[in-house]
Amino acid sequence: MVEYGELALKEAARYRGKIQVLPKVPIRSLKDFAVWYTPGVAALSRAVHEDSDLSFEYTWRWNAVAIVTDGSRVLGLGNIGPEAALPVMEGKALLFKYLGGVDAVPLPVATQNPEELVRVVRLVEPAFGGVNLEDIASPKCFYVLERLRAEASIPVWHDDQQGTAGAVLAALLNALKVVGKRLSDVTIALVGAGAANVAVANVLMRAGARAGQMIVVDSKGILHPERPDIEDLKRRNPWKYRLAVATNEEGRRGGIREALRGADAVIAASRPGPGVIRKEWVREMSDDPVVFALANPVPEIWPWEAKEAGARVVATGRSDFPNQVNNSLVFPSVFRGALDVRSRAITDGMIIAAAEELARFAEERGLSEDYVIPRMTEWEVYPRVAAAVAVKACEEGVARKPTTWSGELRRAQEVIGATRRALDALMRQGLIG
Ligand code: NAD
Repeated sequence: MVEYGELALKEAARYRGKIQVLPKVPIRSLKDFAVWYTPGVAALSRAVHEDSDLSFEYTWRWNAVAIVTDGSRVLGLGNIGPEAALPVMEGKALLFKYLGGVDAVPLPVATQNPEELVRVVRLVEPAFGGVNLEDIASPKCFYVLERLRAEASIPVWHDDQQGTAGAVLAALLNALKVVGKRLSDVTIALVGAGAANVAVANVLMRAGARAGQMIVVDSKGILHPERPDIEDLKRRNPWKYRLAVATNEEGRRGGIREALRGADAVIAASRPGPGVIRKEWVREMSDDPVVFALANPVPEIWPWEAKEAGARVVATGRSDFPNQVNNSLVFPSVFRGALDVRSRAITDGMIIAAAEELARFAEERGLSEDYVIPRMTEWEVYPRVAAAVAVKACEEGVARKPTTWSGELRRAQEVIGATRRALDALMRQGLIG
């Protein structure tokens, strides 16, 4: 980890950033400027003035996403503010482009006020085809996303919520296949009730998990409607309150240990371990338990400890262990698919379609305890997820430019492939390297 940090500092000082804006049209002579800029460009402005939807045809808007953050919860570093968030947002933009062919623009903003965040996104809408919210503290992030999902005319997505939920669902669907259980039957303990797990809980319910059989624990213990802080929750965090009411039908009380007792699966997204989840507690889960310990940089329990305690399938957020639950498998292709059909929104149905496609891809390659979710380097998965998302957007009536599965697969392969080829060419020319 330390070496990566040192390397990142050294390379950042050398390259001074990770992305740049480069023309994508030929410039051969001065005459070209008259087309790309004035006087020619005025014709485009007149056309877009007549019909603002043409901004998606005549500019890069069809493929442009703003990565908006207030820097209030950056990685595990806390509220470090918008400037300090910029390197992370640049990295995200790099992944957007390389994995999804999406032109993403980092946009850290100098406010911590949720109303202002909503307003800033509404104000920049004309410039973008979508917005990716990033690293915004909970519960503020729930409010901002809910408002923007309802009000914006372009898709707004919060990766820490929805990207995580998509990746977790994909891995869980396959983990349950490995242990021979069904999502609709299992008891699931959720450790942590922040940005990640509130979204995970909601998406799991939409995908068929039984709300009553989910037990959610936060830093104060298991959620249930008689918790002393319930009225406070209702006021300050209605999203968590709704979970306290909907889940845990048996009215279980206690902490993580009690939540795990007899559970078929635990999904932990709480705080860095190890030792947040103990081996003895995993031993008290049901037969063939599934353990997802997602805290970064150190999982709530080390994978080998979970295995020693009887876990059949273990997943973490890390690339150095098997089964990395990784948002990067989700957000580039979800946006690829959503942008290509000019979707008005990214619905829960589209997130579930993405997860099911990820799960199917891994299943086709052969599931095992150590392979329940595709690896980031399995490039063929991204266009497939884009196709699944695009088709679902059409089915759900949010797509403005309908397509077919094979149509979007081809298009996504082309767009993503073009980025790879361009980067290869720049590297071969010595312009990057
Ligand atoms: P958050 O701050 O929004 O929420 C954290 C939650 O954990 C809160 O509900 C808090 O009450 C709870 N918590 C803290 N300590 C606890 C404890 N000892 N016992 C029970 N609950 C406890 O954070 P978040 O965005 O939801 O992320 C949580 C963790 O999950 C982070 O470490 C993050 O890096 C990780 N994460 C991993 C992935 C991934 O691997 N793909 C994705 C998202 C988040």
